This record gives sequence, C-alpha cells and structure tokens, in this order.
Amino acid sequence: MTQGTATVVKNAGSHYLLSEIPLWNPFPALLRGKIRLKGSKITNPVAVGDVVDFIREDGDGPAAITAIHPRRNYVIRRSTNLSRQAHIIAANVDMAYIVVSLFFPELKLPFLDRILVTCGMYGVPVTIVLSKVDLYRDFAAQQINNFHRIYEGAGYRVIETSTRTGEGIDVLRSDLAAGAPALPDSAPRISLLSGESGVGKSSLIKAIDPALDPKVGMISEAHLQGKHTTSLYEMYHTRDGAFIVDSPGIRGFGLVDAGKEEIAKYFPEMLRVADSCRFVPCTHTHEPGCAVKAALEDGSISPERYNSYLGMLEEDGKFR
Ligand code: GDP
Ligand code: ZN
Repeated sequence: MTQGTATVVKNAGSHYLLSEIPLWNPFPALLRGKIRLKGSKITNPVAVGDVVDFIREDGDGPAAITAIHPRRNYVIRRSTNLSRQAHIIAANVDMAYIVVSLFFPELKLPFLDRILVTCGMYGVPVTIVLSKVDLYRDFAAQQINNFHRIYEGAGYRVIETSTRTGEGIDVLRSDLAAGAPALPDSAPRISLLSGESGVGKSSLIKAIDPALDPKVGMISEAHLQGKHTTSLYEMYHTRDGAFIVDSPGIRGFGLVDAGKEEIAKYFPEMLRVADSCRFVPCTHTHEPGCAVKAALEDGSISPERYNSYLGMLEEDGKFR
C-alpha cells in the first residue's frame, strides 16, 4: 500500500486523475467515503488544483482520495446565473489569464470588467491576454492603445498575442512557467486560462506547447472508464513545466454574493483612492467629497471602468 499527497489534474464526474506535482505522473483515483463541503450546493467536492491525500493498494486499481487540504482560493461556475448550484472549475489558482480579443468576437468592456471583479472576489490575481492582435492591429490601433491605457492604468498586466505571427507567445510562455518548480518540493504555479469561446484559448495552448492538443485532450479518456459526464476540467502540463487549467467559456461566472459596498473593492484603481472619500462607506455615486469621482474628473480613473462599475451596482440591485 502507498500513501501520499498529490494534486488533482482532471475531474470528470466522480473520476479523478492525480499527479504528484511537480512530477507529472497522472494516475486514476476515486473519492473514498463522503467528503462534503459545508452547506454547499457544489456539485464536485474535489476539484482540479486541489491537493489531496490518497492511499493506493498494490496493483492496478485506482487510488482512494482520503482528505482535501485547505484551499487558498477557488473559482466556481454557476449552472445558471440565479442557480445556487455551482461547480468548482479550479482550486489553488496562482494566476488567471483572461483571454479577450477586441474583435472576432467583439469585446464588450463591461463583460471583461465583470470577470475581473469576479476573479478579485475569488482572490485570484489576473493577467489579461489580448489575443488575435494580427486580425485588427491595422484598423484598430487606436482601440488597442486605448485598451492598454484603461487596463494598465487600472493596474492589470496586459499581454498582446497572436498565434499567427507568434508575437507575445514567448512572453506568455515564460509568464506561465515563471513559477515552474526548480526544486521538487517548491510549490508549483497553477494558471487558469479562461475566456469566451472563440477568443483563441486552444490555439494559445498549442502555440505554447505544440505537443498539447486541448481539443483532443491530453490524458487518455480510458482512465476515466467511459463514464458519461457533462463537465470535464483538466490541467495541462507544458514542456516548460507550467501547469495550466483550461476552462470553457466563463459566461457562467456571475457575480458571487457581492454587496453594493463590496464591488468597488475589486476595482483596484478605486480601492487605491477610496480611503480618501469623505464618507465611509461611500458608493462613489452621489456622495460629496468622493475621491473616486475626483479621480474620474482628473482622468486617473477611466470613464469606461467607472461606467462598468455603475452597471454592476444597478444589476446587483436587481438581484437582491
Ligand atoms: P477557443 O474557442 O478560445 O479555444 O478558440 P480557438 O483557439 O479554437 O480559436 C478560434 C478561432 O480563432 C480559430 O479559427 C483560430 O484559428 C482563430 N485564431 C486563434 N488565435 C488566432 C490568432 O492569434 N490570430 C488569428 N488571425 N486567428 C486566430
Ligand atoms: Zn467615494
């Protein structure tokens, strides 16, 4: 019998693959007994990125997951916006790479801002990947500059990529591997790659490591014993030693349990100045002496971001 600690690298229904990260040695596992999250409507108690204890009898059988280590953070997806049922996409995420293209499909900034706020609430740092720039650099140079001004101004890192010209791919590749373990016992860096369908996530993963083929799936389905499942999450291991969780569209993210006063905390550029507002709490809408509105006037907070904020306040009201 073997006992050990490993990371979940694939989850399909009740079947899991574990790997002793930073080693890449995926092996099948099942949950032993009932591991339940308190008061939860979470459909998968154990998720990709979870660190678990396991035991394995000698022979070919799957290992048994016996305990989950506490999570640093996790990203969930709701079945529908108002549903209480949720699925954990990934746990212990070091960095979320949010992939957006300005065109094809056209990006709506409030959509991106909502995702950024959501990641903030999950406690997951974000890097924005502006993809497919070869397609619109010529006719949208101004919009690209504007995008950098807005999001770098707000405090986010923005990487431009094109899988056609190859620009930005090396930057992204080394960014993803930045925390790649040099020593076996150092913590691995786990990245989440997320974005709407069609923005080029699969193409990016292939460009980063041609041996990976996200559309096909890198780990043999045979391990998962033909069980029909609706949700499937997995981690990729690149040749540079990066660990990437590819997540399908993030439409279902939704805002998690945010109060009105909460939302502004997840706009880094507002958080920076909100201490100077005359009233606490301040909604940064009508209050006199509001530092956020002052920053808006002097141009250090962008009107686009502020409008997204107002939209979220309004919507939050509707759901309450
Ligand atoms: P996913 O749905 O996010 O995984 O997106 P895909 O990687 O499948 O890409 C969607 C479409 O965009 C495909 O037709 C790709 O060939 C195309 N595409 C992806 N990246 C780029 C890029 O950098 N430049 C151009 N011109 N097309 C791209
Ligand atoms: Zn204020």
